[in-house]
Amino acid sequence: MPAVLEVDVTIVGGGMVGASLAAALSGTGVRVLLVESVPSDSGAQRSFDARTTALGNASQRIYGALGIWAAIAGEAEPIRSIHISEAGRFGFARLTATEQGIEAFGYVVANRALGAALWRRLKEDPRVLLRVPARVGAIDIGADAAVLTVEAADGAVETVSTRLIVAADGAHSQVRTAAGIEASVEDYVQVAVVTTVATDQPHEGRAYERFTAAGPLAVLPLHDGNLAVIWARAPADAQELMALDESAFLARLQAAFGWRAGRFTRARGRGSYPLKLTRAVTAVARRVVLIGNAAQALHPVAGQGFNLGLRDAAMLAEVIAAAPADAGNEELLSRFAAWRAGDRGGVTRFTDGLVKLFGDTRPGVGLLRNLGLLLFDLTPPAKSALARVSAGFAGPVPRLARGLPVRRD
Ligand SMILES: Cc1cc2nc3c(=O)[nH]c(=O)nc-3n(C[C@H](O)[C@H](O)[C@H](O)COP(=O)(O)OP(=O)(O)OC[C@H]3O[C@@H](n4cnc5c(N)ncnc54)[C@H](O)[C@@H]3O)c2cc1C
Repeated sequence: MPAVLEVDVTIVGGGMVGASLAAALSGTGVRVLLVESVPSDSGAQRSFDARTTALGNASQRIYGALGIWAAIAGEAEPIRSIHISEAGRFGFARLTATEQGIEAFGYVVANRALGAALWRRLKEDPRVLLRVPARVGAIDIGADAAVLTVEAADGAVETVSTRLIVAADGAHSQVRTAAGIEASVEDYVQVAVVTTVATDQPHEGRAYERFTAAGPLAVLPLHDGNLAVIWARAPADAQELMALDESAFLARLQAAFGWRAGRFTRARGRGSYPLKLTRAVTAVARRVVLIGNAAQALHPVAGQGFNLGLRDAAMLAEVIAAAPADAGNEELLSRFAAWRAGDRGGVTRFTDGLVKLFGDTRPGVGLLRNLGLLLFDLTPPAKSALARVSAGFAGPVPRLARGLPVRRD
């Protein structure tokens, strides 16, 4: 009979969140196996594709504490101010980092750069076992351990016994289904069109969130002086935008966004992402825990999805490292779920509420939004509260997010 590989934790999915959890657990003494179906440098890897991610300050601290930040800092652009407006209305709000007493609201990094840094780290650590490209086959969950098969691309099959399975396999999580955990899916009937544009003005670290009747339009500053555009539209509109040539696309973007960032002169590459809110009904089951998009996949409107998933990973690493004898015991998983509930629920409601508030076309609602934005601009406590949420400070804060090591020694 072939030998069974015994580990403490099996992470299924080595995208942004799963690879970050593996990096957080490396060096803690916990035996980790990471199974990923697509190599991080493959063009087919959707987690580390041509998108950029706005990392909040808590995320930046997590990567700092893990020693990953140094590898990406040179390519990260600080967000020094945020400008929020609504197309066709007078109200707008401005948030500046200096007003909040912070250096930046966050940092914009290329997903590819983050993927390269994370996977470089994982390949350097012989205690993190990597299976890539490979997929998980049958999963049998028992009282003391779960037994699963891992199928490599060359057809080789391995049997693994693990104390805990972490589902970090994204919004369509196979592990979530295998564990019998249901998820609700709400289609926003919007598709995000993502591209990078050049302008004739320096961006000075300014990010923009512009709400339009068809969906929000976010513009983020990039390290090379360009801007990342995330433009949510109705599906038919998005399809049309994807098919336009560069100059017609730039003209449509300029008309929707206005001139506050200058004249758009180039648009490089375009990708499209259908937007849905997917929420697992529970974050844990026997010997299984869900993190990142497998637990909650959000609209990108406020750039919160990955930041939230990274806090899942940071908290889970902390809880596991504190009780390495049985990484999947029920009490540990319940504690994790309870600690994460506030942050997960709060950020999900905040993001979903924002999409719905600005998508509401009932008479009078637009005027109220305008007054809201104006009042918001005049009310320092509201601005500080939002700045804190975007920085990742709702609920208990993981040690890594405070710049401390995973383990308390
Ligand atoms: C347009 C857009 C812009 C965004 N911008 C931001 C932003 O600025 N800030 C922010 O915080 N968030 C942002 N997000 C959200 C962010 O992209 C997600 O939260 C993040 O990708 C979640 O990472 P994940 O690792 O949980 O899941 P995924 O990225 O989906 O990764 C899942 C991984 O699991 C692997 N996998 C899947 N099934 C299996 C299997 N059976 N076996 C093995 N491996 C498997 C996949 O290959 C992949 O590597 C944005 C999202 C979109 C769509």
